[in-house]
Amino acid sequence: MLSHSPYLLYSDGNGNIFEDDTLYAVGRSGWDAFPIEEDNWIKLPEGGNLYELPGRRGIGIDVKTGEMRLCEKGWAVAAFIPPAHTGLFLAAYETLPDAPTLPLFCYTAAGWHDGEFYVTAVRIEQDIRQECVGYDNEKIESGVERLLQVYSHNRLVKHLAENCCMTYTCPAARNFFLERWECPVPTSPACNANCIGCISFQPEDETIVSTQDRLNFKPTVEEIVEFTVPHLMNAPYPLVSFGQGCEGEPLLMWDVIAESIKEIRKHTDRGSININTNGSNPRSVKALCEAGLDSIRVSTNAAREHIYTPYYRPNNYKFEDIIESLKVVRSYGGWTSINYFVFPGMTDSIEEYEALRKLIKDTDLCMIQWRNFNIDPDWYLGQIGVTDTGECMGIKQMMELIRDEFPNLKFGYFNPPIERIKGNYETDFAH
Ligand code: SF4
Repeated sequence: MLSHSPYLLYSDGNGNIFEDDTLYAVGRSGWDAFPIEEDNWIKLPEGGNLYELPGRRGIGIDVKTGEMRLCEKGWAVAAFIPPAHTGLFLAAYETLPDAPTLPLFCYTAAGWHDGEFYVTAVRIEQDIRQECVGYDNEKIESGVERLLQVYSHNRLVKHLAENCCMTYTCPAARNFFLERWECPVPTSPACNANCIGCISFQPEDETIVSTQDRLNFKPTVEEIVEFTVPHLMNAPYPLVSFGQGCEGEPLLMWDVIAESIKEIRKHTDRGSININTNGSNPRSVKALCEAGLDSIRVSTNAAREHIYTPYYRPNNYKFEDIIESLKVVRSYGGWTSINYFVFPGMTDSIEEYEALRKLIKDTDLCMIQWRNFNIDPDWYLGQIGVTDTGECMGIKQMMELIRDEFPNLKFGYFNPPIERIKGNYETDFAH
């Protein structure tokens, strides 16, 4: 237990971070700042980063008066917490006029206590596949060299090597070149949604940029099968995942993916074949299940249509279609997850909680991946027109209520391998 709340952090604007021991750190939920109970704090996990937030003043509680006030000593600071951890509160600050929109990262509340950085988060996933200590750069580089030789004419392996692994340092691509666990298979240069915080495409007139460029070619069945079959046959806890951050919507390539799955399964029945998708087309999903798809992960910022639609801005589908896609995969006995963008103040509102309970029941959902929403909080709420988030219960309490009501529903951060889906969920994975 902490002896007191962590102190607020501020930066001098030159990347140097200091604690202000006249102020205790607080957290943000929706548009409001709140004191944080001490059991919400954990030490900043390895692989986490700290960001200075230009044009923003941190909010804290005066150690002497107990009053909430701004820190005028510098800019506010937030934490980017590593994968496998879910943030419980956003960093609390007041945004000054002309402050720049923040890039597409998550901004979790952070503080300083007894010589250590602390964040408001929980470890939600025990699978170690994206632990930063597990990445050996030398082994990755020699893996890239070797597989580029083995697949010398494969445009997709070249993209995964030069862009994903060596430029974007994508954890999934790095695992592929280390020949282990989840292998990414991007396929689609286009998308049928227009997400405000799209990480692979941002309109010219937006001030922020996408964190990676979208794939600019359509891979063939041969290119996909060539490297995925050996990966499934040889890697520990192997799975291949269509639908990655460096592409548009994979369902727009459903026919190529369906052919690829059929071809893969002619060579091996090992491992899991998964698709990460916006779930926009249940008929295409049905065709993939017919071909042999094992699992699906549907991304969403909410279980409520009126919060979903202004964010995804779909071209030719509706919120109901993503629900239907989850049902289709369950009807074939497949594993279903939602890639749930957690935003304190929105995710844990009473209205969202009730909508999520309904979604879980209606779709017989298998898993919630509680992912941190990588977006500027003010910009997000402003863009979807939310001025009041309503009554909230806290992310941690919401998780506990959902866990109690749905004991078979799994919580995590990554797509599970088939060993975990079909075997002992608590032990059959990389740990
Ligand atoms: S569904 Fe994915 S690729 Fe399409 S706009 Fe949204 S984030 Fe971007």
